[in-house]
Amino acid sequence: SFQPSPNITRLKESATLAVAAKARALKAQGIPVIDLGAGEPDFDTPPFIRQAAAKAMEAGATRYTNTEGILPLREAIAADANRIQVQGAPVTASEVVVSNGSKQSLYNACVCCFGPGDDVLIPIPSWTSYFEMVELSRANAVPVLGDPANSLKVTAAMLAAAGTPRTKGVMINSPSNPTGAVYSRTELADILALAAERGWWVIADEIYLRIDYHGDAVSALEVATSRDNLIVINGVAKAYAMTGWRIGWSIAPVAVSKAMTNFQGHTTSNAAAVSQHAALAALAEREQADAAVSEMVAAFRRRRDAVVQALSAFPTVQYVQPAGAFYIYVNVDGFRGAADPGAAFAAAVLEEYQVAIVPGSAFGTPNWIRASYATTDAIAVEGVTRIATCLTAAA
Ligand code: PLP
Repeated sequence: SFQPSPNITRLKESATLAVAAKARALKAQGIPVIDLGAGEPDFDTPPFIRQAAAKAMEAGATRYTNTEGILPLREAIAADANRIQVQGAPVTASEVVVSNGSKQSLYNACVCCFGPGDDVLIPIPSWTSYFEMVELSRANAVPVLGDPANSLKVTAAMLAAAGTPRTKGVMINSPSNPTGAVYSRTELADILALAAERGWWVIADEIYLRIDYHGDAVSALEVATSRDNLIVINGVAKAYAMTGWRIGWSIAPVAVSKAMTNFQGHTTSNAAAVSQHAALAALAEREQADAAVSEMVAAFRRRRDAVVQALSAFPTVQYVQPAGAFYIYVNVDGFRGAADPGAAFAAAVLEEYQVAIVPGSAFGTPNWIRASYATTDAIAVEGVTRIATCLTAAA
């Protein structure tokens, strides 16, 4: 029989699976479920990107590429990063490694920088996989709870208090999944300054950077004291509605980039050639790409406004004001006296109101739930209205 290796015994099962399976079962019975569980844009990849991929495929982009990605894409990623005033010298292609999604870049970074005996600070609530990636790197994930009075964000002072001589790094995600919170320029600069002072790695996951409603989101590349200890992660999945193409990347010091390339070379090799060409179009065809991104972000923002407006009818319902990404994080503390209020709420709102959401335990905070509004305006509004109804009925 299968005895799992110690490599994976610390891996937890995805907390989203139970709800997703139940939602599927209800749908199979013909019950219409409002699905606010999704973590991806509901839009199709813009046509000019799909056409560029088809053209590249016909032109022979069907073979292995360099592990670190095709040079034109890495140059386009560097040029894209340099659209802002980055700290220090402009970003070059030698700092860029292309992977099969930002998830892989995050994992490559963890494996290459962290190891046994290291602690890695993870501000919570946080995207599920950070914990698992740090643990798979045989380091310890140390959660640091954000301040409910400040959109559940952490401050440099909170991280400083949580740090020990074993601390080797910190994961930062702004705009945040699951809260939609955005770190201000000073909040982020203070965290980066602390990390530089303590010699910590900063892994900055900027996958939602362009989905920013108030123009507040800043890249760590812009506000870092130094780029020597900084690994910035991004990709095409969320901003360009390209989740299925699986293209992400890292921008890191050359030595780190070389180590990540070596590691990736022994695990997956290069990202799909045709997808790299699709990503190249997304980054290089700026005018078309910016128009597409603006249109999608405007739709997310309109839904954000509609969802917040719908919740204003329920003054007792508390949530984090979403400033970016496409999620709303709602407090369900005390729901029906359950030990895990988020899980109890997820089960109840699905069974009684046919709404699928993700319990906050998936993000390290069981008193909350995450709803995604990457769906039509009407479905998003109906979904959050049912969530608030279920919550206030229980109060
Ligand atoms: N980082 C965060 C915060 C995410 O929410 C996601 C996807 O849900 C990812 C990374 C992974 O994105 P990709 O599709 O580029 O691997």
